[in-house]
Amino acid sequence: MTPINPSGLWKKRLGDWVINPYVGCEHGCYHCYCPAMPGVKFNNQGHKQRDWGRYLLPKVGIVEALREQLKRFTPDKARTTEWGDGWILMSFLTDCYTPTEAKLKLTQQCLKLLLEAGHKVRLQTRSALIERDFDLLVAHKDRVLVGTSLPYLDDRLARALEPRATAPSRRLKMLQRAHARGLEVYVCVAPFMPFHDRKVMDEVLREIRPFSPREIFCEVLNPKGDNIAMMREALQTKFPEEASRMQNYSAKYWAQFTWKVLSFGLKRNTRFIPWPDTQRFWKTHLTVEQTAFLDRYLPPPTAGELAIA
Ligand code: SF4
Repeated sequence: MTPINPSGLWKKRLGDWVINPYVGCEHGCYHCYCPAMPGVKFNNQGHKQRDWGRYLLPKVGIVEALREQLKRFTPDKARTTEWGDGWILMSFLTDCYTPTEAKLKLTQQCLKLLLEAGHKVRLQTRSALIERDFDLLVAHKDRVLVGTSLPYLDDRLARALEPRATAPSRRLKMLQRAHARGLEVYVCVAPFMPFHDRKVMDEVLREIRPFSPREIFCEVLNPKGDNIAMMREALQTKFPEEASRMQNYSAKYWAQFTWKVLSFGLKRNTRFIPWPDTQRFWKTHLTVEQTAFLDRYLPPPTAGELAIA
């Protein structure tokens, strides 16, 4: 097992490297596209996308394997990437503070090894369990970034769509506590929902402003595999209006909605970062002017990408 792996997520300014202590995520968000990604599909013992949230495969031995890898994988080596920032993202394809982490502490042990080895760690979670590790994070705060997703602040809606994740109001409190302890934070306004509007975006931006987030990302709902159908089913009983607004979520609609949301966010916050993979997709659906406007906010292409173009 190689715990730390290179990642293309640097294009989203998320990390040069990624480490996932678990396969699966007990939070079971219906929008989640992780179960449709190869890193999960080929390592989850044959579970289907609809099983997401009902299984968790801890990576037994990851702490020992990481200790071995860190003998060679130094912070200098971590910076030898196209982005060259050396951030290790914890995690992508799982939530490193999935409820079982309270007992197993794989994330905590890996985190301790990474920070003591001098690495920069970026934590992404929908759980307030991260507060358990605040003492450790504060001790290395110049190399730590704490992030959460806040696509909206409605706890009732979140209970329907993210059944076992910490409620948005509590995640906001977690950010407040992190900020109060001197930890730098960032926020993912993701996934932004097709039934939401600028009022929702404004509300999120207003509430997170006091914590001076280093970055704010935005990705509109990304249709992958069965996630749209699963969300509509989850919303049907208590949120029929929202469920019906998700019908006809076509590729064209997705591109146009992405344009609206990102241009709105970019006008309000210059650190509002669009996601490059979405940008590649929308080129077929937007005008040249719209694409050029958004291109200004993306990282420059790498030498390899220029050669291909
Ligand atoms: S918390 Fe993140 S990884 Fe877990 S189900 Fe939700 S979106 Fe997916």
